[in-house]
Amino acid sequence: MKRAGIATAVGMLAAFSAYVPANAPAIVSAQAAECAPESGHLAQARVRAGSHVTERNQPNAAKVTEMEKDFRDRLGRLAVAGKKPAAAITVRVHFQVVYGSAGNVPDATLAKQLDVLNKAYASSGVSFTLAETKRTNNATWFSDPQANESKMKNALRAGGAQDLNFYTGNLAGGLLGWATFPSSYRSQPKLDGVVVHYQSLPGGTLTNYNEGDTGTHEVGHWLGLYHTFQDGCSGQGDAVADTPAEQSPASGCPTGRDTCTAPGVDPIHNFMDYSYDACMTEFTTGQNTRMSEQWAAYRN
Ligand SMILES: [Zn+2]
Repeated sequence: MKRAGIATAVGMLAAFSAYVPANAPAIVSAQAAECAPESGHLAQARVRAGSHVTERNQPNAAKVTEMEKDFRDRLGRLAVAGKKPAAAITVRVHFQVVYGSAGNVPDATLAKQLDVLNKAYASSGVSFTLAETKRTNNATWFSDPQANESKMKNALRAGGAQDLNFYTGNLAGGLLGWATFPSSYRSQPKLDGVVVHYQSLPGGTLTNYNEGDTGTHEVGHWLGLYHTFQDGCSGQGDAVADTPAEQSPASGCPTGRDTCTAPGVDPIHNFMDYSYDACMTEFTTGQNTRMSEQWAAYRN
């Protein structure tokens, strides 16, 4: 099984790409004209293997360069002001359960998802605490949260920059979830958050993707991480030094995969790859540092 293609939005950042067949080349371009009005913000998505995909806006190299410059500028100003990134971060979680004829995820499942997050991020110094569980009966939003993102989030989003709004719904087209980056919060605070397929939560029906690590992965973006395969084998990659470069997303759990000549095998066990949930087990020290710096720069 192969992951489907990853679309890179050219020009406008957020785009629904055209449907991309499974086994397509890893990088394809989406036309700016395809940008949906809903999605003018920067976000990244996780998709299922073997599926047709409406991939969401992986930033291109130029956009990453621009984002990294802003990030470094902000960190520089914090350093001048004598402010250091916090060693520990507490995230308040607002579960936004959007449901229709199905999808009213029980509290016990949400508790398991919270537990998955806390275990995955324990070594990163990030902890998650339940702020609220809000249940919204809206069959339209539930059945297509992508198309209804703006309406849904404008109506529901709660809290400030440090509040994680964790939406669940019935994502279509093989999409497991998507997230916004911390740097998007200032300009579009209402769109901030992660959206995941309700069957990706622990015990769900999405075989190989039902241990809650879509949540882990999307929250990684929300905390400022790129994919481990960002920029492939070249360029600045994911802007983290200790994740070996990787040409394309991994699928399944291909131990020993090594797609770039640069040192190190592909980081297929990293939460920011596209491997099966059971295969994803770690963040690196460099990613942990980046998350705390992103929090200081954009969410503090
Ligand atoms: Zn992703």
